Parts: sequence; C-alpha cells; structure tokens
Amino acid sequence: MKNPQDPAARPYRIGSCPQCGQSVRLDESNPWRPFCSERCKLLDLGDWFAGRYGIPSDDPTPHHRDPDGD
Ligand SMILES: [Zn+2]
Repeated sequence: MKNPQDPAARPYRIGSCPQCGQSVRLDESNPWRPFCSERCKLLDLGDWFAGRYGIPSDDPTPHHRDPDGD
C-alpha cells in the first residue's frame, strides 16, 4: 500500500511562467524558476528595469529659452 505522504510519490510543483505563462516546474531541477527559461527570466528583468528606470521623465520645466525673454 502506498503512503500518500511519501514525498517521492508526490507530483512536482507546477506553476506558470510569469513571463510567458507556460507551465513550469518549480523545483530545483529548474534553475530559472519561477520562469520557464533563462530567456523569460531575462525578459522579465528587462521589463522590470524598463518599468522602473525606463519611464521618460515628465519634467514640467522646459529646457529651451524663450526667445522673447531676454
Ligand atoms: Zn516563460
């Protein structure tokens, strides 16, 4: 009779890649977890950096001189 608590009998954890949504193993056999691949991991980091640092600043002060202001 099988023991249902036996870890070897337990199925590995499956999640979905945050980048592409593909099913991905969430154990040590997947070095890119929770992503499915290095590519998705890098893409996600790229998105993160772009979102944090890549937003063009909305500077309200104009940098050009008013030609009539002198
Ligand atoms: Zn992916």
